[in-house]
Amino acid sequence: MGGGRGLRSKNSYPVLASRPVGQIISKIYKDRIRSFYSPGQYEKHNLLAMMYEGIASGEPAIKLSVWDAPGQERPTFQEATKNEFRNTGVGHSFGPSWSTHWFRVAITVPESLRHKEHLELHWDADTEGMVWSQDGQALQGLTGGGERIEWILPASFRDGREHVIYIEMACNRMFGNSPGGDIIQPPDPNKYFTLKKADIVAVNLEARALYIDIWIIGDAAREFPEDSWEQHKALKTASDVIDSFKLGDKESIAKCRRIAQEYIGPNVDSHKVYSAGKDIKVYGIGHCHIDSCWLWPWAETKRKVARSWSNQCDLMDRYPELNFACSQAQQYQWLKQLYPNVWDRVKSKVRAGQFQPIGGSWVEHDTNMPSGESLVRQFVYGQRFFENHFGQRSQTFWLPDTFGYSAQLPQLCRLAGMNRFLTQKLSWNNINKFPHTTFNWVALDGSQVICHMPPSETYTAEAHFGDVRRSVSQHKSMDQDATSLLVFGKGDGGGGPTWQHLEKLRRCRGIADQVGLLPRVHMGNTVDEFFDFLEPKAGGFVTWYGELYFELHRGTYTTQANNKLYNRKSEAMLREVEWLATAASLKDSSYKYPKADIDAMWESVLLCQFHDCLPGSSVEMVYDDSDKEYEKVFQTGERLLKDIRKVLGVSDLRASLQNSVAINTLPWHRKELVNISNDEVGVACGEGQFLAIRPFKMVEEQPAVTVEEVRKGVFVLQNDQLRVEVEGGCVTSLYDRVTKREVIEKGGKANQYVIFDDKPLYWQAWDVEVYHLETRQELPCGETTISEKKPHRVSVATKIQISDASSIKSTITLSAALKGVQSWVECHAEVEWHEKMKFLKVEFPVDVRSTEASYETAFGIVKRPTHYNTSWDMAKFEVCCHRFADLSEHNYGVSILNDSKYGFATTGNVMRLSLLRAPKAPDAHADMGTHHIRWAILPHQQSLSHTTIRAAFAFNQPLRAVASSPDVSRLVAAGGGGANPIKLLGDPNLVLDTVKRGEDDEDVRPGDEDVGGNLPKRKGRNVILRIYDSLGGRGRGTVKTTWAVRAVFKCNLLEDDLEEIPLRGDGEFDIELRPFEVASYRLAL
Ligand SMILES: [Zn+2]
Repeated sequence: MGGGRGLRSKNSYPVLASRPVGQIISKIYKDRIRSFYSPGQYEKHNLLAMMYEGIASGEPAIKLSVWDAPGQERPTFQEATKNEFRNTGVGHSFGPSWSTHWFRVAITVPESLRHKEHLELHWDADTEGMVWSQDGQALQGLTGGGERIEWILPASFRDGREHVIYIEMACNRMFGNSPGGDIIQPPDPNKYFTLKKADIVAVNLEARALYIDIWIIGDAAREFPEDSWEQHKALKTASDVIDSFKLGDKESIAKCRRIAQEYIGPNVDSHKVYSAGKDIKVYGIGHCHIDSCWLWPWAETKRKVARSWSNQCDLMDRYPELNFACSQAQQYQWLKQLYPNVWDRVKSKVRAGQFQPIGGSWVEHDTNMPSGESLVRQFVYGQRFFENHFGQRSQTFWLPDTFGYSAQLPQLCRLAGMNRFLTQKLSWNNINKFPHTTFNWVALDGSQVICHMPPSETYTAEAHFGDVRRSVSQHKSMDQDATSLLVFGKGDGGGGPTWQHLEKLRRCRGIADQVGLLPRVHMGNTVDEFFDFLEPKAGGFVTWYGELYFELHRGTYTTQANNKLYNRKSEAMLREVEWLATAASLKDSSYKYPKADIDAMWESVLLCQFHDCLPGSSVEMVYDDSDKEYEKVFQTGERLLKDIRKVLGVSDLRASLQNSVAINTLPWHRKELVNISNDEVGVACGEGQFLAIRPFKMVEEQPAVTVEEVRKGVFVLQNDQLRVEVEGGCVTSLYDRVTKREVIEKGGKANQYVIFDDKPLYWQAWDVEVYHLETRQELPCGETTISEKKPHRVSVATKIQISDASSIKSTITLSAALKGVQSWVECHAEVEWHEKMKFLKVEFPVDVRSTEASYETAFGIVKRPTHYNTSWDMAKFEVCCHRFADLSEHNYGVSILNDSKYGFATTGNVMRLSLLRAPKAPDAHADMGTHHIRWAILPHQQSLSHTTIRAAFAFNQPLRAVASSPDVSRLVAAGGGGANPIKLLGDPNLVLDTVKRGEDDEDVRPGDEDVGGNLPKRKGRNVILRIYDSLGGRGRGTVKTTWAVRAVFKCNLLEDDLEEIPLRGDGEFDIELRPFEVASYRLAL
């Protein structure tokens, strides 16, 4: 025995330590990982140096020629490719912004690359683009700027011959053409883009796979907690991989990957990684949010759709696990019309179940401002499109990016065949954190939907390790259910999932199965299946009642005033067109209900309600487009109304008072002053389609309304009900002569214009921040004069200087009070507006005390606090209203009506209507120019009641006199009964809002398959009525009609029958609605 032999242990563990071994120093080893796969000083020596096995640039491999489309035209493939192309090459520049350039790309794969495993064309001009085949098939979109720059060469290109493709270059980036890094700055019209890269590249696929391996293992090393063994193992594995790498040695890559498998498992190279393992926590859903307009116009969106969706079809071929949820029927329609070959590819992927139409709406629309009926039509046009083309309706309302969610949406969803709702925008709240991830969201009427807000707090996740992790760590409803959706893919400007996203998710799943700790992510399920899993548990989910108020973007109720005015006007016009066209089509069978025209009008209005259009958050060119769209709507509407009037026996021709009637679609008794001509006014009175007009002067011999200057600069306007004192341009007293009550707070000044500094933290067009309130300044008034003094109406006018450039001509008007009709004070402002980052409002300090104010919303009322007790109350310092806001105490209140505004605030007893903003981004000229705005102060007895509802309708749909035929005159003279085909009697809280023909009526539906051609037609003629309770009380009523109704059914918004309603012999039927119910009825004739 001697030497070391005697120290040998019985097993292989040596007795003597052979060398010192140190512990990994975590921070240094973590930092080392990135330098293994990042550009920079090591890029020629690290993994990046082995990504490509060969690159061919320039001629003869790539021959380039180009044709520049003129101006901002976006020609089709056929139009573009018949032009003469000129030679060009890498390094050349193309522009200006929004122009289009078509490249002919002649590709000859050189011998040196012909036998490489995987060849791609890499094309990067920093712009979006589309790859087209030589015969005009749109193949795949390109993003630029290093993202999605590759197109895989088909095997047929390896034959040594020249092959031609075309690339359509759009001179914009994914987020438009902002001049620098701040995407919301107004676009630079003169940007040029350099073609930086046009190469044939042979890719080392194993190196590429290792790149993703090490990225994700590195994330685990960096992001898992250091008190977990899983973190330490990740760091050790990453370190071993890097140690094993040998530059230039393909074998070492294979070895590195084997080491990586110890952490990510052996199955990450195919979709089979998803076939093992249970206890799924996170369901990955590919998605591509394409704003239908935003920092680019609609015309560009049409191309974004084709680019993004063709990419997805391509990825689906290579990644069978990819499930892609895709919303907005409008975008499908664009694709169908403009890109038939992509449309066919999409349809086949829909059939295969991978491409999943979702959302049930025409566009992803704003929900704060559209009327109830507009929200209905978003669903009607959306669901019909999906059903017509894909044979199924959506079950999930999908609205990840809209700026707040109005209170009746759950009810409307349920009535449109959807019981699920997905959003996540409330994660942007900048005051309070929304407390739930998965919950039941309850409408004003009690209807509920299951709502899920992905805990990764994005709809454009990059499918990072961290996104998967946050899907559990930020989940707020795990008491009830810990699963969630991970909505991933490039978005806002389009794009969708990339191959990198899918590769990363495979590795995340591999980690969950191999080492654990990371929540198990799954691919291959649909959004509907995710909700199917939730549904059995929904009974135990927490609830959220009423609106999902978004604590940000409050400026969007006001920005882009014209758009909002046009929205309101077109909604009122469509209501009138449909109502009267229905009556006309049933009166005269030779008149065809203009369904195609009405569809076109609705589709325009619905498109303009997109969540960056109506809210005012788009660039200037979008509003040039939407102005034209609305112009078309109004022209079509006027044409239709002219035709309808002819059928109904009236005409637009100026008439004398004797042969005038007022045309009416409001379903209650009305009595209003109507202008016949400049000097003649009448009183329209009655109910039904035509109201008789009698001379005003014949009913009132005494002056019914007066104005006088009682002291210097102090004016009193007075009628039988109200006495208005105006001093310094403001209403200093509004005295209700009937109830003997002062309406204005003592010492207060109503109709006082106030201006605020308006510089939000970042999102100019979107946000007004709470601190703007501290900068309130009253605008001083100039001289007031009597501007109108007629027997039926008097006015005083005041000029108000805002600045050297901006001013207001403010008019306060009082009309004669009509017996039985609540009188109001009408205000008009003609604003010349040229401000920078200012907010103009008008305020009304009223002598009413209440801790809650009421605001009209779609099909109902929302109550919001008038105080700042909690941060949740305070967050509502600026809120959305429709035609009125109301502050009432027991037995008395004041409503402020408006014709085109949506922003309001009530603080204490001060009601404040928001008028105009002046943001400079993304539209540098938003709202500059002249505006005409109307509103009214309506004091009323009792609390909020049908008095306000009806006044708000009338204020937005004033009666118009038309010349009547002798027939109509006789009918009206005889009491009008025969001219009133439909009536709703009963509780005054019920509103008969919509009268239209059935969508599928065989005699009205256009033949075009776009608008329902594949859906079954309905025999006979049908009339659809929409009735809602407007005040939050149970309502009973009776519908009476002169039409020959055979049967009546209660139906849903999509006009499916729910139940038959007993019909009495005289064409009457009874209805009963629960509080805030929206009820639809189908009258079968
Ligand atoms: Zn969006």
